Amino acid sequence: MSSTSGDADEEAIDRFMTRRDLSESARWEESYNKKQCPECGGVHEPSATACSVCGWTPE
Ligand SMILES: [Zn+2]
Repeated sequence: MSSTSGDADEEAIDRFMTRRDLSESARWEESYNKKQCPECGGVHEPSATACSVCGWTPE
């Protein structure tokens, strides 16, 4: 049981590290208080969590 939570912690850290490495591309561009998809250039509301045009997400 304890090993399971340990694995989860390691995975969380690994994901955090990966996100830092990919921070150049894995995040929204910003355009006039809107979010802009770096993949297709689609513009979305600031509350958007995924691109409704191409399906891109920052994670
Ligand atoms: Zn997109």
